[in-house]
Amino acid sequence: MELFGELRELADHSGIDYAGVADLAQAHDAVVEQGGPLVEGFPRCISLGIVLLDTIVDQLPNRSDRAVAVNYRLHAYDIINQRLDLAASLISGYLQQKGYRALPIPAAEHADDVRICASFSHKLGAHLAGLGWIGKSCLLVTPQHGPRVRFASILTDAPLASTGVLMEEQCGNCTECVEICPQQAFSGRPFRDDEPREARYDARRCQSYFNSMRDSGQLPVCGLCLYVCPYGKR
Ligand code: SF4
Ligand code: SF4
Repeated sequence: MELFGELRELADHSGIDYAGVADLAQAHDAVVEQGGPLVEGFPRCISLGIVLLDTIVDQLPNRSDRAVAVNYRLHAYDIINQRLDLAASLISGYLQQKGYRALPIPAAEHADDVRICASFSHKLGAHLAGLGWIGKSCLLVTPQHGPRVRFASILTDAPLASTGVLMEEQCGNCTECVEICPQQAFSGRPFRDDEPREARYDARRCQSYFNSMRDSGQLPVCGLCLYVCPYGKR
């Protein structure tokens, strides 16, 4: 079996719903600008995704109910991240056994607290792997599950072919995520790979909302931009 088939089998056994491979050469400068020496030198990324439960996401408008917030935090965030990280660890170990370099990037990581981003953009990796487009919400939007998918990534030098072509942005005239955000964090501009994230999304506004919930003793949960996207709603 070819290498990606072996990895796909491992991913399937780990409960991974989405798996793809991206060639990072096309985004080399952006990748290095975000992650620096840690991520430089890896030509490819394996993108892994798990679909969130609709029963959890559909309750987000009622997130002031603590039971709803606790369930979302646990079942749409903490446990999904752990499952992604476990799968990324298993697959990275397998690649190392085969003689390749593999660096798992945690599903939830704020490596840079000033820019509020990770050392590698899981959304960019999934987009380059052909799994979806980056929406006006700055979330990765898949045709089938919308943004209701969490992702982790593995950077590697394993000789894997890209799994897909870049998907066209399909937000069209929709602005639902822009309108629902209680912090007006989105500008409404569609994604362009020659513009910085700040042109579309003010991460500090979102972060300050979470901080204020935390400071007032609430469990910090929002996700309305994820909930509202018509591509994920059934
Ligand atoms: S999580 Fe909430 S506050 Fe943050 S960007 Fe999405 S809708 Fe806005
Ligand atoms: S809610 Fe609409 S504009 Fe926002 S990401 Fe989804 S399709 Fe795009």
